[in-house]
Amino acid sequence: MRLARRPVGEVRPEDWEYGEEPVGVPGDGEFLGRTRYLSLDPAMRGWLDDRPSYLPPVGLGDVMRAGSVVEVVASNHPKFQVGDHVVGTFGVQDYAVSNGKGALKVDPALAPLSTYVGALGMPGMTAYFGLLEVGALKEGETVVVSGAAGAVGTMVGQIAKVKGCRVVGIAGGPRKCALLTEELGFDAAIDYRSEDVRKALRTHAPDGIDVYFDNVGGPILDAALTRLAMHARVVVCGAISQYNNEDAVQGPSNYLSLLVRRARMEGFVVFDYARRYAQAAAEIAGWIGEGRIKVKEHVVEGTVADFPETFGMLFRGENTGKLVLRLV
Ligand code: NDP
Repeated sequence: MRLARRPVGEVRPEDWEYGEEPVGVPGDGEFLGRTRYLSLDPAMRGWLDDRPSYLPPVGLGDVMRAGSVVEVVASNHPKFQVGDHVVGTFGVQDYAVSNGKGALKVDPALAPLSTYVGALGMPGMTAYFGLLEVGALKEGETVVVSGAAGAVGTMVGQIAKVKGCRVVGIAGGPRKCALLTEELGFDAAIDYRSEDVRKALRTHAPDGIDVYFDNVGGPILDAALTRLAMHARVVVCGAISQYNNEDAVQGPSNYLSLLVRRARMEGFVVFDYARRYAQAAAEIAGWIGEGRIKVKEHVVEGTVADFPETFGMLFRGENTGKLVLRLV
């Protein structure tokens, strides 16, 4: 799946070019992987724009960048043997040749393969470091997370519960909200599609918000800013409500509450914590093993040709938990 043209606003089918080509042959020090699970991430939208960011944009005509789990089917690499499963950035394609840079061997006996792009992969790491390092969470605090029923959000809320906090999730629709409170242990959930978020935050975070973990930006961020506790931390993880904007990103108009509440707002990029992923993944795996964290995944079965339609689900709120495409 190659990028045919740069999208303006919402990504359209014509922005992609799907084609079939001969499978690559691994050279010296390389292996060939067959894709099993493709990760669908909101960040992919940003990678399509030709503007400075934390990674260079995907080039026109290039295979779309994506995280995935592959199975090694041929290898001239000393560290990767045929039959190994490997997680890395191998792109939206059935087969990928890799020199092993940034690739990590994973064990399907320890956790289902999809988890390595979910709870034990990038979204899990994002929740862990965003909440505990950037958010500097302390026991007993009140945490509010937007995009709460998604890959990162479900992990943020559950990690905050492990840490003994009060947790309020903001998500779209009654089904997602019920999942948060009835299955994942959140203390309260706000349906931003049918409720006044500002009012609901007054009810569910009566003493104010200590950590607001923002996945969506826009009016929900603005509402959360009005309810900050003293010395609150606003973690800027993402702003999915703004990613398809054709005009400028909508900034928060209530930012002066940072001044009044002596609060701070800080962004982060999960890749900066790569050297500590193993330690974080081990800790999260422990919580999963103890039944304190439930893994929520939304697995779509299909082919590489289904990527554009599946990717669109993220922006229509059609996924609950981590969205993955299992190639069949
Ligand atoms: P999700 O699994 O949360 O999927 C996206 C969800 O966003 C949808 O299900 C939908 O849920 C919600 N959404 C879509 N459009 C809107 C909108 N207009 N307003 C409000 N909510 C919307 O994705 P991830 O968990 O993978 O990613 C969550 C955020 O984290 C993203 O912003 C992403 O860019 C960011 N991120 C940042 C990283 C970093 O290093 N800083 C790393 C990884 C992710 P609903 O039905 O509730 O609307």
